Amino acid sequence: MAAFDEKKDHPRSLTMCGHVGFESLPDQLVDRSIQQGFCFNILCVGETGIGKSTLINTLFNTNFEELESSHFCPCVRLRAQTYELQESNVRLKLTVVNTVGFGDQINKEESYQPIIDYIDDQFEAYLQEELKIKRTLFNYHDSRIHVCLYFIAPTGHSLRTLDLITMKSLDSKVNIIPLIAKADTISKSELQKFKMKLMSELVINGVQIYQFPTDDETTAKINGAMNGHLPFAVVGSMDEIQVGNKMVKARQYPWGIVQVENENHCDFVKLREMLICTNMEDLREQTHARHYELYRRCKLEEMGFADVGPENKPLSLQETYEAKRHEFYGERQRKEEEMKQMFVQRVKEKEAILKEAERELQAKFEHLKRIHQEERMKLEEKRRILEEESIAFSKKKANCDLFQSQSFMAAGSSIKKDKDRKNFNFM
Ligand code: GDP
Repeated sequence: MAAFDEKKDHPRSLTMCGHVGFESLPDQLVDRSIQQGFCFNILCVGETGIGKSTLINTLFNTNFEELESSHFCPCVRLRAQTYELQESNVRLKLTVVNTVGFGDQINKEESYQPIIDYIDDQFEAYLQEELKIKRTLFNYHDSRIHVCLYFIAPTGHSLRTLDLITMKSLDSKVNIIPLIAKADTISKSELQKFKMKLMSELVINGVQIYQFPTDDETTAKINGAMNGHLPFAVVGSMDEIQVGNKMVKARQYPWGIVQVENENHCDFVKLREMLICTNMEDLREQTHARHYELYRRCKLEEMGFADVGPENKPLSLQETYEAKRHEFYGERQRKEEEMKQMFVQRVKEKEAILKEAERELQAKFEHLKRIHQEERMKLEEKRRILEEESIAFSKKKANCDLFQSQSFMAAGSSIKKDKDRKNFNFM
């Protein structure tokens, strides 16, 4: 087994006897990618009117017809618009996400939250697609944000708290390229100082901005040099103005012309070069390999998945699933047992309450019964007395009646005697 692993880890290098054709693999890859087309998603963060839409139009040399945002939005909202662009035979599905209402509210405390939620939602959608049994990632519209262009107002002072907090909370989720917007409104010497101040503030506060990669020798030199120019000071304009004998994109002022593509005037060309021509693929790769990977790892860990077990042993998905299922059943049984015990306890409590109530009722009943009996006995006694009185009364009445009739009779015979006497006298 060890020998087999050794072979796998160190394959033997052989010399081929002739051409077989796999040297065309890079071309096949290019052809496939061209057929499929590319997608690139840009998030523009910055206050309303700072020049986000103008810069995107200028960058892609297209009028995207972005609606003008009002300054009276009650909260920050993210508006995504997708466009299909083509340059030669390369098709690009470009999504521009604008932060509508950013910095317009009096209370800006939670202004960054909708941005974080939006970025996470796109990661979540991708993760859900990846976790599906039947995945369609090859034609899935990847909406994950590849770059965040962060527009800083050209105040010449320092970073505003809102910018600092927002960048800090976004830096682990997206590649941030900070830009000094409307750089034509700040003088050359002030701009240099401002750039240095901003960079030192970002470093002091531990804000990780995107660094152009220096590991590829073809781009290392230019990328390394460009890292030293961050944050780029940009000017945007779709107006074409004649300078000499050619038309250039510029902003015209009473005192002169600011040429967008003139490197002495601003860093617009540097930005376009770095963002589109040199590092677009790296931004896409970093999004997938760094930011999405972090989101995915945290999410899967949250769901209970892990690569290694308690003793640092590798854990397969099946084992994790079994362990999770076991844990779930254990937890369910524990909950069931808990509920049963709670039920028995409740029944006992209820029974005790009912028994107590029954006991109280019984005592009340006994008490009432006793009172009732006492009342009855009293009544019986009263009745007996009444009956005796009634008998005595009846006796008295009978005696009285007898006496009355006797006296009446006696009175009757004496009246008759008187009458007879009167009649005798009269005669
Ligand atoms: P958004 O709300 O951030 O998308 O800002 P817009 O792109 O709509 O620009 C708002 C205003 O700023 C418009 O009048 C633009 O012409 C102007 N603007 C845009 N870019 C620049 C710039 O680089 N310099 C100056 N001075 N003005 C600019």
